[in-house]
Amino acid sequence: MSESCIFCRIIRGELPSTMLYQDQQAVAFKDIAPIAPVHILIVPRQHLESAAETTAENALLIGHLIRVAAHVAREQGIAESGYRLVTNIGKDGGQEVFHLHWHLLGGRQMRGLG
Ligand code: AMP
Repeated sequence: MSESCIFCRIIRGELPSTMLYQDQQAVAFKDIAPIAPVHILIVPRQHLESAAETTAENALLIGHLIRVAAHVAREQGIAESGYRLVTNIGKDGGQEVFHLHWHLLGGRQMRGLG
């Protein structure tokens, strides 16, 4: 847990969010500035800075987050049409919030990679 981290504060309920999924390891909530009809953030409760910070100990957690994303995608009705999972790392990766998360993007045709 990090005192000032935005996502830690959302997870603690100190900041508002549209929470769509919660379990013991992960949460999923709507992105505040969506770039697609479905834009949901898949976030571990554990504060890890990015996917680059993970270790072998986090391997099961990472797998779990991917499965949560697939579950939320099914709930959102985009499993058949397809979707994109993105995790940004560092400045050139476009990372703004330094708490590991996946963007679940769908509901429109994705093009290009950045
Ligand atoms: P990234 O650039 O990969 O670090 O993505 C951070 C994402 O968090 C951006 O898409 C923001 O729109 C989103 N975001 C920032 N603050 C909030 C918030 N309070 N609630 C929901 N999403 C947020």
